[in-house]
Amino acid sequence: MAVTDLKPDHGAARRHFIFNDEHEQLRESIRAFVIKELAPHAEEWEETTFPDWVFRRMGELGLLGLCYPEEYGGQGGDYYCSLVLAEEMTNSNCGGLNMGIAVHTDMATPPIHVFGTEEQKQRYLVPSIKGELISCLGITEPDAGSDVAGIKTRAVRDGDEYVINGSKTYITNGHRADYIVLVTKTDPDAGYDGFTLFIVDMDLPGVIREEKLRKMGMHASDTALLAFQDVRVPESAVLGEVGKGFQHIMWELQGERMIGAAGCVAAAQKVFERTLAYSLERTAFGRPIGKFQVTRHKFAEMATKIESARQLVYTTAWRFANGEYPVREISMAKLHAARIAVEVADECIQIHGGAGYMKEYNVERVWRDLRLNRIGAGTDEVMLEVIGRSYGL
Ligand SMILES: Cc1cc2nc3c(=O)[nH]c(=O)nc-3n(C[C@H](O)[C@H](O)[C@H](O)COP(=O)(O)OP(=O)(O)OC[C@H]3O[C@@H](n4cnc5c(N)ncnc54)[C@H](O)[C@@H]3O)c2cc1C
Repeated sequence: MAVTDLKPDHGAARRHFIFNDEHEQLRESIRAFVIKELAPHAEEWEETTFPDWVFRRMGELGLLGLCYPEEYGGQGGDYYCSLVLAEEMTNSNCGGLNMGIAVHTDMATPPIHVFGTEEQKQRYLVPSIKGELISCLGITEPDAGSDVAGIKTRAVRDGDEYVINGSKTYITNGHRADYIVLVTKTDPDAGYDGFTLFIVDMDLPGVIREEKLRKMGMHASDTALLAFQDVRVPESAVLGEVGKGFQHIMWELQGERMIGAAGCVAAAQKVFERTLAYSLERTAFGRPIGKFQVTRHKFAEMATKIESARQLVYTTAWRFANGEYPVREISMAKLHAARIAVEVADECIQIHGGAGYMKEYNVERVWRDLRLNRIGAGTDEVMLEVIGRSYGL
């Protein structure tokens, strides 16, 4: 085709090079499942939190182990399958559900797969992939969140056992979980080499689930304050190396941030599309509101932000999947995707006018749910610290 014949093709499929036909088939099937079986319950689950059967159903469908090896019941897919899941889950219109599932698939179970013993994989990873066990991850404490090294939960060796004391807060799935991947301090004098991860069964004596915490958004998820009072676990509950828990959890956080960033971009895209449709239906002063130049420019700004975040997320995921450890770019992707998602949701409320403030249109909920992403998994300020320090500052 001669260059002079070229016409812009705005409707062209925009499949990124990291995805192939199999990813697209997976995308279609997850989307169909989410729209048919999960989305219809979104309103109810905002009130009640989502039920545990979602884990079992997703386990049956193979969606809780997309990237795990077949020998553990996984699908043996590549890292991009996780991105596809995070993106397509946004069709549930239920941020709290998406977060609860992501904590299980991409936060609590990856350390077991990577650092766990064969026995731990059989006992925890295999049933987690089936959706028979539900997991949670305990890093944050009432007195230490951003400052992970400042945690106080102690695990003290006593013969063949460890005795754990401390508390964790804001723990997603904390009320429903069968086990927790717990960050503890085993040697307070050893600095970053004094931390150890444990897998702790939540029905052990001394594990106390306090009341459900009430939140601004993500209402469909359960968020727990947990106490550990003289909880005795065997030595076999140590996950990974004794003393290497800080390094293990920093690795985990990179995957958590990538998945969070992918979810942010997808959620921003979805609320953008719904608002675009609304702007063509809603009229004011004799024309659709989308046809005012000011509104058109709002969409142009939002689309540019979403596309820039998407490219950063995919390119960084590609590096991560190819064995690099691009902590700086993961931090950038997490920071940028969370920020633009909140900005987009906020602008979409504005474009909806009064309707944007009403629950019925489900834009305010998107904003409330997305707002968490500038705080959870490392705040904006912590991401800026990681990025800034990476330049030797
Ligand atoms: C709904 C929800 C679900 C969550 N789920 C989980 C979970 O499943 N598991 C889990 O372990 N945690 C979970 N978290 C906790 C979350 O990761 C923390 O809230 C987050 O890391 C921030 O820690 P913090 O709340 O203690 O804030 P703080 O660390 O007290 O920070 C307060 C403010 O100080 C700023 N600040 C702190 N340090 C610096 C610094 N060095 N430079 C500049 N500014 C700084 C922060 O950016 C922030 O603005 C969840 C939180 C929420 C709200």
